[in-house]
Amino acid sequence: MNEITIPRPNDLDAFWMPFSDNKYFKGTPRLLARAEGMHYFTPEGREVLDGTAGLWCCNAGHGRREITEAIQKQAAILDFAPTFQLGHPIAFEAAARVADLTPDGLDRVFFTNSGSESADTALKIALAYQKAIGQAQRVRLVGRERGYHGVGFGGMSVGGIGPNRKQFGAMLPYVDHLSATHLPDRNAFSKGQPEHGAFLAEEVEKLVALHGDTIAAVMVEPVAGSTGVLVPPVGYLEKLRELCSKYGILLIFDEVITGFGRIGNYFGSERLGVTPDIITMAKGLTNAAVPMGAVAVKNEVHDAIVTGVAGGIEFFHGYTYSGHPLASAAAIAAMEIHVREDLPGRVRAIEPYWEEAAHSLRAAPGVIDIRNHGLIAGIELQSTAGKPGDRAMRIFRRCFDDGLLVRVTGDIVALSPPLIIEKSHVDRIVTTLGDAIHKEA
Ligand code: PLP
Repeated sequence: MNEITIPRPNDLDAFWMPFSDNKYFKGTPRLLARAEGMHYFTPEGREVLDGTAGLWCCNAGHGRREITEAIQKQAAILDFAPTFQLGHPIAFEAAARVADLTPDGLDRVFFTNSGSESADTALKIALAYQKAIGQAQRVRLVGRERGYHGVGFGGMSVGGIGPNRKQFGAMLPYVDHLSATHLPDRNAFSKGQPEHGAFLAEEVEKLVALHGDTIAAVMVEPVAGSTGVLVPPVGYLEKLRELCSKYGILLIFDEVITGFGRIGNYFGSERLGVTPDIITMAKGLTNAAVPMGAVAVKNEVHDAIVTGVAGGIEFFHGYTYSGHPLASAAAIAAMEIHVREDLPGRVRAIEPYWEEAAHSLRAAPGVIDIRNHGLIAGIELQSTAGKPGDRAMRIFRRCFDDGLLVRVTGDIVALSPPLIIEKSHVDRIVTTLGDAIHKEA
């Protein structure tokens, strides 16, 4: 593979890196220059096992030839065409393929370019829907503490991660939050869905008592990822569904992480047995080869907005790149891989091994909780006094230097490898991570 010349930057100043300690990074850069299958390679050619599928997104593994070729081919046919009042065939095909994989009845698909745009789009659809059905007073949006829905003003406001909000004073008005589902005293070291916590969904009823019929939508991640892996307690999502239906509130699942096989079905809602009204997705949709997000909507939600309007533009929203030809080509190729290789089935097959492997770290120093579902795991560590996040960051750096990419948030190590993972990779993840936890204790 060495015939490819790997670029080495000689100036790191210009790129203001997102969600990064820029000063630290630029003093000690860690660069990923190439990727293939389960691995990244540094510019020097050092192999790094990908324990995070990039950022929860390269679910089919890296460098998939079918996706690369589809993008190349499409670029030569049609580089770009607008989807405002015009269309190109491949965007329609991509939407139909998404609708084939989403739960029955969520067959209308709006394209975006990212998870953040999908979150904001879903919230706007919910508001437009309520207005279309004569419920214009429903302007309130409900999220959940520790939820992550990206960085747009909608997703940031409905999201519940403090540091992502506190630098920016202005949030959307009319937003409320449910409690996080994290009950460490009762659920620590649960395997799969924890037993306790369904009662937390009853908070919807408290918010209805407080706000009356002004709530448009509740948005949650089925399994919260970016906050450090919070798996929904048994019965929690079912209760949310029941209460949202009872009170005329739309239920939005943010499946940017749980979509595309991550927890053993094409969508987490299927695995968890609860169908929302709207699903947001991104990341795995194109295997991250070209940025793309999407929002799948129940047909009646779409119809209320689209057929409910006499003529003209029905929904004043969209992106220049909604349904971009290259992204559409990548999405179709990625979805074909998912179906052909039954990636969700692979997750279910390896899940018991993954679960045992993750929980084998229980006795490592400072580990206070381990959570897992599908091909996700979160290992929570006791924070060093006065230095929150320091221990996990040291572990992240040591793992990287020892050839393993993990993701950390606060003092939680999150794992989400590509779904093509083999048992030998699982073993290497656990050995390298366990070693780093011991050395950085
Ligand atoms: N929603 C969820 C659940 C996510 O995990 C993420 C990203 O991690 C987003 C939204 C935002 O996606 P993006 O970074 O593509 O805007």
